[in-house]
Amino acid sequence: MNDCIFCRIVDGRIPSEKLFENDRVLAILDINPVAPGHALVLTKAHHELVTDLPADLLAEWIARTQEIARAVVKAASAEGFNLLSNNHKCSGQAIPHVHFHVIPRRTGDGIKFAWVPVKYPEGEMGAWAEKIRKAMG
Ligand code: AMP
Ligand code: ZN
Repeated sequence: MNDCIFCRIVDGRIPSEKLFENDRVLAILDINPVAPGHALVLTKAHHELVTDLPADLLAEWIARTQEIARAVVKAASAEGFNLLSNNHKCSGQAIPHVHFHVIPRRTGDGIKFAWVPVKYPEGEMGAWAEKIRKAMG
């Protein structure tokens, strides 16, 4: 038996506040929101990472996420939103089942994502770009 929390929400073994569902995607309210209206958009099938998704499911998931984001912004009278997907434990992914966070935002709401931007050491930015372009081959 799959003990993934989101799989259990998808099949109804754990209750959730559903916002939308079709045959491949489910959107629910996050139980511990960063802001009221914070939504999660899950694929119904269990995949851990965005990079694991087949292209057709990825397209469906993102299209439904866009609709949910519009609805969250409207319902929360927000000015904007963050769209966030943690991938792997090292990134903060607590539930290894692919999902987008949709977080409604307003100027001055005080929500902070704790990352500290730095500069590339001299000459390293181009080398990084080249490394990634090569990895795409
Ligand atoms: P992540 O760290 O990206 O894996 O985020 C997982 C999110 O799932 C967190 O924001 C949790 O608050 C949320 N969460 C955990 N359990 C539930 C649940 N039973 N119903 C709704 N959201 C949940
Ligand atoms: Zn799962």
